[in-house]
Amino acid sequence: MPPKTIALDGPAASGKSTVGSRVADALGYLFFDTGVMYRAVTWTALQRGVEISDEKAVSKIAEEVPIDVRPPSQADGRACDVLVEKKDITWQTRRPEVDANVSAVAAYAGVRTALSEQQRRIGLRGQVVMVGRDIGTVVIPEAELKIYLDASAEERAKRRYEEIIGRGEEADYAEILDKVRKRDHVDSTRDLSPLRPAEDAVIIDSDSLDANQVFEKIMGLCA
Ligand code: C5P
Repeated sequence: MPPKTIALDGPAASGKSTVGSRVADALGYLFFDTGVMYRAVTWTALQRGVEISDEKAVSKIAEEVPIDVRPPSQADGRACDVLVEKKDITWQTRRPEVDANVSAVAAYAGVRTALSEQQRRIGLRGQVVMVGRDIGTVVIPEAELKIYLDASAEERAKRRYEEIIGRGEEADYAEILDKVRKRDHVDSTRDLSPLRPAEDAVIIDSDSLDANQVFEKIMGLCA
């Protein structure tokens, strides 16, 4: 029997979502990328002209605005649909202004409480691969399998760069690397649920592994 709940944590652009959705498909599990919820709150705040530094107003959005994450309705590279007030904002959540502000939003206590509660409810139902930063440490500490997928900032920036170029958009490697480092710093030094592996997590360093090898490794742990 595969583990009931699989927690997959790691830094930005470590390949968690790609491998997580493949593992979920292979097991017939739900794939749930918790990062999209923080992104949805960030996008909504920016859309509404709310100052990201206004903790109270941003937290209110997390508490009150309905966010829905559903299986993908389109085969355009998305791992899931992200809906805010029933409107599809999947690709808006990937915009650079969201990348630049999401870590600040995710550091607010009110935001984390509101989103973690929803995530925990879904995670406890089981048959789910949950991807994030604090799934194994805070959201579902009782998960039967915890994986921490790591990679160097350079390798992660390279992958992000290739992903953007692959979509036919322009990208600057040095700028991406700088942003990855900044996001790592905010995510791992914040007071609440900082990014770190759970004590009982299996750490996989993907610098020298391709996506298939990471997938096989995780499937081996699920057997
Ligand atoms: O994984 P992704 O890059 O989409 O996550 C966006 C941001 O959301 C992260 O940089 C982090 O600040 C935050 N996050 C978090 N806890 C999670 C998932 C994401 O703080 N469980």
